[in-house]
Amino acid sequence: MDNEEGKRIDVIAVDGLAGTGKSTLASRLSERLGMSHLDTGASFRMAALVLIQKGIAPDENEKMIEAISQVEMAFENGASYINGLDVSRDIRSEKVSSMASKIAVSPEIRRTLLEWQRAWVDAHGASVVEGRDIGSVVFPEALVKVYLYADDSVRSKRRTESSAEGLRERDQRDLNREAAPTVQVQDSVVIDTTLLEPEKVEELVAQLWMVRRPTED
Ligand code: C5P
Repeated sequence: MDNEEGKRIDVIAVDGLAGTGKSTLASRLSERLGMSHLDTGASFRMAALVLIQKGIAPDENEKMIEAISQVEMAFENGASYINGLDVSRDIRSEKVSSMASKIAVSPEIRRTLLEWQRAWVDAHGASVVEGRDIGSVVFPEALVKVYLYADDSVRSKRRTESSAEGLRERDQRDLNREAAPTVQVQDSVVIDTTLLEPEKVEELVAQLWMVRRPTED
């Protein structure tokens, strides 16, 4: 569903750094509210995996875009596919995490993946979309925007596959890059998940959606 300017509004945007609880919240909300769920981090990870497999470095912009345009990426029911092959496990390695955050500084990569992300929501309808720049860039007119925060110690415990140093490095890149850095936009609701139970966070955001969601007239 779009607004008068043709911008998609039936979206719950969930932004925040790694380990703040985005995936837990997004999957609970999608189940509860009957909405689709897109993890945009998976699109950066799939692109990173393709580039690692092809031996392309994160500064070779043209080659990166060409390689990504030659594959078909899909995300269905929480699983990630490249050319029909399930890569859900492969994209969770520390090597892929690091490559994903390196390629995420490229405006060209971001533009390519933004188009893929918007097309995904066009095809799937009302969605919970998690990432870093969803409320700021991808769906700036989303009816509900949430920015999750959590203390560093809790975040690295939640992300057991990442070393504390790997996480810190990614944080720095994700927060300080020029293109679409991780930001807390003014119209987002900030939730500190350090001590909150997942069901409390879910309840809060689900209530917000019920109040703001589009109604058919
Ligand atoms: O969310 P996840 O940790 O799986 O994302 C992997 C990397 O992809 C992040 O560290 C970030 O650099 C990048 N990313 C991004 N914008 C998004 C989602 C992910 O830059 N919307």
